[in-house]
Amino acid sequence: MAKDYYEILGVSRDASEAEIKKAYRKLAHKYHPDKDGGDEEKFKEVNEAYAVLSDAKKRAQYDQFGSAGAQAGGFGGAGGFDFSQFGGAGGVHFETDFGDLSDLFGSMFGGQDMGGRRARRGRDIQTEVTIDFGDVIKGTKKDVFIRRRATCQTCGGTGGKPGAKEETCTKCGGKGRIQRTVQSMLGPIMQTVTCDACNGRGTVYSEKCETCKGEGIVVEEKTTSVDIPAGINDGQTIALAGQGDAGTYGAPAGDLLVTVHVTPDPRWTRDDDNIVTTQTITFSQAVLGDKIAVETVDGSVKMKIPAGTQSGEVFRIRGKGVPHLRGFGRGDHLVKVVINVPKKVTRAQKKLLEKLREEGL
Ligand SMILES: [Zn+2]
Ligand SMILES: [Zn+2]
Repeated sequence: MAKDYYEILGVSRDASEAEIKKAYRKLAHKYHPDKDGGDEEKFKEVNEAYAVLSDAKKRAQYDQFGSAGAQAGGFGGAGGFDFSQFGGAGGVHFETDFGDLSDLFGSMFGGQDMGGRRARRGRDIQTEVTIDFGDVIKGTKKDVFIRRRATCQTCGGTGGKPGAKEETCTKCGGKGRIQRTVQSMLGPIMQTVTCDACNGRGTVYSEKCETCKGEGIVVEEKTTSVDIPAGINDGQTIALAGQGDAGTYGAPAGDLLVTVHVTPDPRWTRDDDNIVTTQTITFSQAVLGDKIAVETVDGSVKMKIPAGTQSGEVFRIRGKGVPHLRGFGRGDHLVKVVINVPKKVTRAQKKLLEKLREEGL
């Protein structure tokens, strides 16, 4: 059944964030289960409505799809609260910062279904590498050191000693979840959290796996080689699928995200996939034409300066730029030619220039 969250909070559909917060605070006080005349069902409903309407993304989804949309998009999905960032394998520890109620309730009610036996994708892990500009042209391999949570090989992630007996957890009665009370500015609140005795599994083993101390997860430290493709740009991130933290209950592992930094080379400036340089030539080279040497990333290349070249003209050396990251081919090397006007000339040069002036140059 679709619930009207606006009606529950008693606000209009175009209510501002502040109006929603105000209405929520009032109702949360009114229905708080520990108060006289409190109403736990209503309190939950109010919190659920607030969890959605106080979150711009969930609210938009709700406006479009109703409560089912907000649940699907916001609660279980990527927008949901990430419990994995708080400590142990499946353990849920809320930060005790009640400064912003929307966070507290957003996570409590938004994440309620995440307790217990639930497959959860492993976290992505992040690292960085720095490469030279030359590596951008050729592509390279870099070793990165990573520390990740990996499935314990001894027990296959169950946490039980191989051959040990699996029994129902007595603390949670096999549910994998327990209720606990936390203090908030509104008074104590009941919370459903993952059972810490069985880590949400619902069962315990008669003997724990010795390798992982029953966690099912071990911390693995290793060096891994990352292929860095030619053409990569400073600040881009490479994702290595499945090389992040292990998932729980058969869920896939997270990714390893490697952000690449490129040390610039003073000789070359990158513009998209082109390389841009400036070359100074003399007045006579510009007038009469010449061949000059241009230092490209592939080494020195002869370039023709046609007679009558203007200062600031740009010449293109095809295919000597940066390789295209996607697809084939490379950018170009663009040479901007600037005519050098000497500050000092020799007596002989001066004589010649005066001759030129007489000739109208
Ligand atoms: Zn183990
Ligand atoms: Zn348990």
